[in-house]
Amino acid sequence: MTYNPQNIFAKILRSEIPCDKVFENDHVLAFKDITPKAPTHILVIPKGYYTDVLDFGARASKEEITAFSRAIAKIAKAENLESEGFRSITNTGLNGGQEVPHYHMHLLGGKKLGAMVCENSTGQLNLPDDAQ
Ligand code: 5GP
Repeated sequence: MTYNPQNIFAKILRSEIPCDKVFENDHVLAFKDITPKAPTHILVIPKGYYTDVLDFGARASKEEITAFSRAIAKIAKAENLESEGFRSITNTGLNGGQEVPHYHMHLLGGKKLGAMVCENSTGQLNLPDDAQ
């Protein structure tokens, strides 16, 4: 898939639209999801333009990949997700229900989440309704 620089997260990265930022460094930006599916719902994105996890894995530098993993660990700690646990989800493509074509990781927590995949869900996160 060709990267579309008009996607919403690219606009956030260029500060064309606002976000509720929780973390930023040279390679990573993290902000609150606009429609949270759990008490804590953070989106972690690389600053580089990658469409999805496959594109990121194929083209990102070692520095970017390391920075992304380290950022997730830092954010989980800062947001108090460490002790009680949380879920990290990356949707990819059509079957994964990916809505925004810029690679991102969802961090969800703050309560006990339901089943990982809801059989009759049509939602983007494939989370059961009672996970909210
Ligand atoms: P996906 O379905 O691609 O895995 O997840 C995209 C996520 O981006 C959704 O959870 C959606 O709520 C979130 N989102 C979409 N537009 C915006 C926006 O403008 N700002 C923020 N903060 N989140 C957004």
